[in-house]
Amino acid sequence: MDNKVAMVTGASRGIGRSIALALAKDGFDLVLNDIDRQANTLDEVAALIEAEGRRSLITVADVRDKAAIQGIVRTAAARMGRIDVLVNNAGILTSARIEELTEEQWDEVFAVNAKGVFLVTQAVLPYMREQGYGRIVNIASVGGKRGAPGQAHYCASKAAVLEFTRVLAMELEDSGITANSVCPGIIMTEMGKANLPDQASIDKWAAVTAQRRIGYPDDVAGAVCFLASDAAAFITGQSLNVCGGLIFDGG
Ligand code: NAP
Repeated sequence: MDNKVAMVTGASRGIGRSIALALAKDGFDLVLNDIDRQANTLDEVAALIEAEGRRSLITVADVRDKAAIQGIVRTAAARMGRIDVLVNNAGILTSARIEELTEEQWDEVFAVNAKGVFLVTQAVLPYMREQGYGRIVNIASVGGKRGAPGQAHYCASKAAVLEFTRVLAMELEDSGITANSVCPGIIMTEMGKANLPDQASIDKWAAVTAQRRIGYPDDVAGAVCFLASDAAAFITGQSLNVCGGLIFDGG
């Protein structure tokens, strides 16, 4: 394909930004999404992508807003010609133990992390179906497999992403579209600082990770680029842990 297009939600910073830049290096033009409060930061990412010789389109919308998402996806398809890759990366993390967790905290985390993945995927699918080609990569979390005290709502929302992705893969059958999840471990970003407030926390997480270090956004971007590539054509409905050996599936 001459004109490969990838869309990344929550692309202004952290893991989403690294994914967008890595996909640009791999030859994709980029549809960059984030929420309106991050619009200025998206401009910076767009400039870096254009410096890479790729096109970029900024699409500001809240992934919880179905009408807004359908609008930006329509614009993206019209302006960029196609959408080959969707990376559902936007997410939020708040912390509270279950006895203190409010209904509002539960609903907010589920609305962004779980419903947002559903709404953006549903908006993009008609274009991928028409192309007969697509790669959907959903950013879940090791927390969605193993849990974390104080983050029940976040971990449950990521478990929802994992199961949504499996069913999506089943329903996609022989459409030429794959759907997979990536489960980052402990990654140094603004969100990651909730788990990494100080050097002692960094050292604690490194000590329980096989590679004896925490992760960085570029660690996650490499896995996403692989799942977004033609090399991953026969992989669908799977989840890939990108955690340096913090957890191991099957054990
Ligand atoms: P981050 O630095 O907080 O970046 C997330 C981005 O998503 C931010 O720009 C954020 O904007 C945006 N966003 C939030 N709500 C949105 C909405 N409703 N619509 C559109 N965009 C929205 O987080 P990150 O660490 O890069 O995390 C990226 C993904 O990886 C998330 O899904 C997260 O759950 C997952 N993850 C992260 C870690 C980690 O250790 N960092 C581990 C496992 C999984 P605001 O900042 O303005 O809210």
